[in-house]
Amino acid sequence: MGLQGEKTATWFARAKANLVNGVSSQFRYWGDEDTLVIDRGEGAYVYDMDGNRYIDYQCGFGPVVLGHGHPDVAQAVAEAAAAGTTFAMTSAREVVAAEKFRSAVPWVDALRFTNTGTEATMHAVRLARGFTGRDVILKFEGQYHGVHDYVMFSTAGSPPTAMGSRYRPVPLQSSSGIPHVISTFIRTLPFNDLDLVERLFRDQGHTIAAIIVEPMLGNAFGIMPEKGFLEGLRKICDQYGTVLIFDEVKTGFRIALGGAQEVFGVTPDLGTFAKSMGNGFPVAAIAGRGEVIQAWGRGGIAQAGTYSGNGVAVAAAGATIDVLSTGEPYARLEKAGKTLMEGVGRICAEQGVTAHVVGVPAMFGIVFSDEPPKDFRDSAHHNDQLYGDVVMGMIRRGVMPVDDALEPWFLCAALTDEDVATTLTAFDEALAEAMA
Ligand code: PMP
Repeated sequence: MGLQGEKTATWFARAKANLVNGVSSQFRYWGDEDTLVIDRGEGAYVYDMDGNRYIDYQCGFGPVVLGHGHPDVAQAVAEAAAAGTTFAMTSAREVVAAEKFRSAVPWVDALRFTNTGTEATMHAVRLARGFTGRDVILKFEGQYHGVHDYVMFSTAGSPPTAMGSRYRPVPLQSSSGIPHVISTFIRTLPFNDLDLVERLFRDQGHTIAAIIVEPMLGNAFGIMPEKGFLEGLRKICDQYGTVLIFDEVKTGFRIALGGAQEVFGVTPDLGTFAKSMGNGFPVAAIAGRGEVIQAWGRGGIAQAGTYSGNGVAVAAAGATIDVLSTGEPYARLEKAGKTLMEGVGRICAEQGVTAHVVGVPAMFGIVFSDEPPKDFRDSAHHNDQLYGDVVMGMIRRGVMPVDDALEPWFLCAALTDEDVATTLTAFDEALAEAMA
């Protein structure tokens, strides 16, 4: 029996009659019996059409950092909606949101808003190419930078065993419909191996426009950068005149107010932000410093968007950044996340299951393997079946992470101590059940 109750099943049938597979984004499709239809979200909870309540660790794949329907954000958005949302001109709300963004992320000299992470990375890649006059982009295996053609290679959906030698990896196209020639502009390497990056740059550094990197692997368990890795990328980019892009779509405004730059102390040339900066509203930014970001101002490198900086999006960003700037949400995420990470580790040890809890309190992953993973290739040693069984058991107990361990648990600041305790009980029971 799947996860759908009677009413949810009826709603899913209606969804499927109109939306392809019943969803508007393929990652949301869990099969015909397990794809839920959601009625509403409230703080740390989501409710399906049968009224079942789940403690939500998907948080919309990361954006909902404050909790669903946060009153300050909802009010700011309602006011913005009533004041007209789309103008062919800059709006005051947009200016205010940009000021708030820059005080939160002080390394940034200037930015432009857009609506999705995909648009943000697409523009960042274009800007880097336009600025350097080079075509090639280096990305790392298991990282996801959105759905546009230029970055859909060796993402977390690709089988690690098909990626070839780590010395000369095969960039695996993650979708049909991408012209083959695009693959000639991409290089892929395992994360956390600076020697390989140096080798590649010695060979062809003068052709590489940008390194685009998720500073921690937000689409592969939450694997952390080893000491020196991001610093090394910075150094190589400086040496070869390559643009360093931090894709902070998942880490930005989540792992700290200043994002990965604040946590890891390495400053990129460009950063892409989305998700947690709008607590679930479609708002994103391409931010940067120095000559690189100012290259737009000198013309010739196209960037545009009818809805970029629209009133609802920037109102959501402004209100979310205000709440995050109090520091309270981060204190809550830290406390809840630490308790969960430690609790999961302890329960696994008690039950004799070898596991590694990786990442940071606001977004962490659980890996069932003997060795802790350093890069995406190590996901081949993870017991995917066990993880999927555990998550299904948790969902039946009212606690909902994504069923694929590559997608970290995302916490929101609305989680109570009681939610955390309920979660650990559900994990304990579901793990015992799955092991039996
Ligand atoms: N970059 C990263 C690191 C992401 O995780 C995602 C989405 N999960 C994207 C870019 C694309 O964002 P969007 O889905 O808003 O297009």
